[in-house]
Amino acid sequence: MLQKLVSKYGKKLFIQTFNHARFFSNGKQVLKLSKEEILAKNWERRCELATAYRAFAKLNMNEGVCNHLTTKAPSLHCDEDIILIIPYGVYWSEVTPQCLAGIDKDNGNLIEGSDKPELTAHSIHRGIYRHRPDVNAIMHTHSEYAAALSVLDDMEIKPIHQNSCRFIGNVMYDKNYGAIAADGENDEADRLGKMIGDKDILLMGNHGTTSVGSTVALAFDLHYYFEIAAKAQIMAYQTGKPFRTLGPDVALSIYNYMRKDCHYYANAHFSGIQKALMREDPTFLKQTRVHH
Ligand SMILES: [Zn+2]
Repeated sequence: MLQKLVSKYGKKLFIQTFNHARFFSNGKQVLKLSKEEILAKNWERRCELATAYRAFAKLNMNEGVCNHLTTKAPSLHCDEDIILIIPYGVYWSEVTPQCLAGIDKDNGNLIEGSDKPELTAHSIHRGIYRHRPDVNAIMHTHSEYAAALSVLDDMEIKPIHQNSCRFIGNVMYDKNYGAIAADGENDEADRLGKMIGDKDILLMGNHGTTSVGSTVALAFDLHYYFEIAAKAQIMAYQTGKPFRTLGPDVALSIYNYMRKDCHYYANAHFSGIQKALMREDPTFLKQTRVHH
């Protein structure tokens, strides 16, 4: 679709159109959405995000009622996408599509739903969305092994396992943990938003992981596999034995292989875990009216 638009309208016009597009779905551009399409896409994003929350709860990657996963979604209330997020106090294994709050991406005001999210959450997420217009989903957790890696003086992922190679050169390491980015502390949110640059992962020193993606499935898949790569590395450290590091050519070929079909693998992973969750609770994605 991207190529067709460029050849049909020319690069300059295409870029203008691209910047004014209402919504991006799975990397494909939807130029204009009808009211019905907005409602359908909003619900689709809600189902995806609810699945991600429940999946991380199932994988023990949540922490109390803290940490946050978000996605952009179209709304009938404004021209620009809103940000969907969990309301404060909801346990991740209990999240449903309709319980999610929709907030304004600029000021964090509640637009959809009645239960407010925690302010710290959307401050960081809004900071990243501001600086990465290509990003449609952000996931932040304090998952165990990545958090363990984040407290080490050298917290970089090493090319020691197939899973690790996906992240070589694709992680920004923030070694300057400063403060909790609460409302009013937009400097920290902006700092983090700028810091991630064009990477998929921000490993926040003494803190945890943030992954970003053009889809919920991709951000989820990256987050999960970063934790798995961190686990292999932390467990290898515990043996006290030297690493057998993969050579740069091998690491690069694995990186390229995994990157090429990342959406295919991410979608298969995400739909697999969604089916498992639906078997456990067949009603959790049942459509009920969301008040718009
Ligand atoms: Zn955190």
